[in-house]
Amino acid sequence: MGKSELSLDADEFSIIRQFFTHPPQHASSGVLLGVGDDCALLQPALDTRLAVTMDTLVSGVHFFEGTDAERLGHKALAVNLSDLAAMGATPRWVMLSLTLPEPDVVWIADFMKGFMALAGQHQLSLVGGDTTRGPLSITVQAMGEVPVAIVGMRRDRAKVGDLICLSGGIGLAGLALYHLLQGQTSIESSVIDALEKPMPQLATSLAIREWANACIDLSDGLAQDLGHILTASGVGASLIWEALPLAECVLDHCQQKDDPWMPLMAGDDYQLCFTVSPEHRDALVARLASENLPCHIIGHVEDRSGLRLNVAGQTYELPLRGFRHFS
Ligand code: ADP
Ligand code: MG
Repeated sequence: MGKSELSLDADEFSIIRQFFTHPPQHASSGVLLGVGDDCALLQPALDTRLAVTMDTLVSGVHFFEGTDAERLGHKALAVNLSDLAAMGATPRWVMLSLTLPEPDVVWIADFMKGFMALAGQHQLSLVGGDTTRGPLSITVQAMGEVPVAIVGMRRDRAKVGDLICLSGGIGLAGLALYHLLQGQTSIESSVIDALEKPMPQLATSLAIREWANACIDLSDGLAQDLGHILTASGVGASLIWEALPLAECVLDHCQQKDDPWMPLMAGDDYQLCFTVSPEHRDALVARLASENLPCHIIGHVEDRSGLRLNVAGQTYELPLRGFRHFS
């Protein structure tokens, strides 16, 4: 045990036994060896590739101090599953590294309640992690499988002429953050849930992965994240303001604060933004509709670089940016 691990020797191991040791969710979990040894041993399915991602949530940076632990457990996993969704990966395994100021078992129990509830929904197995003492920080590594036949769903595969689509509405999480920063406490549940309980768009990911050329999940705002696709693919795009899926309260906010760009610049939406060739449009729309999954076509990919937004016939050039940690 390293010096910085929770130094309550027996406690550390009872915490691991009590909270992190779960039997695999189902027989075909691919877990040969889970929590309890030096490594987990995992067996990916034949004809799949392993998709691996990691995200860290730091107290005071990614969430407000005192955020509900159960909601944090959900979000810490959700943001990682969102990355898997963006690559067309089926989630399989997850690892969890918790750094805690104190071995607060009530907090850990609440956190794991939110974490395991979402893991259970997606038949994901917790196969290992680390538990250390320090300022509150949560790191999750998620692993999934992508069939070898899936060749798109990457940032660098958008083609000129592709339609640009969103899996759902944007700007609600940005609106929640705005209210929180204003010190407001009574925020409508649909608004605060968008920020604190984002739902990874895994069903949409499965439905589109055969057809989508490029895909990204929206963590830092549409302008910046779509910008990553455009830059990686060496293309540009035009969007149509009127086609953006904006809830009534988001539209009201934009009007009242005279800030029409908020839904494009604010982060934490965790919707998928993907591009698809027009020839696949009908098949894709029909497939999503058959599963009751939304699809909003908001613009198209162009040869000319940059990101343009058409608002009532006027064209505005948008900066390819949103939330940034080091600026
Ligand atoms: P080591 O010292 O070999 O790294 P640890 O004492 O850190 O082992 O962990 C013992 C076992 O418990 C390992 O299998 C590890 O993956 C697992 N584990 C520790 N912390 C967590 C956690 N937060 N979530 C899931 N598994 C954990
Ligand atoms: Mg360890």
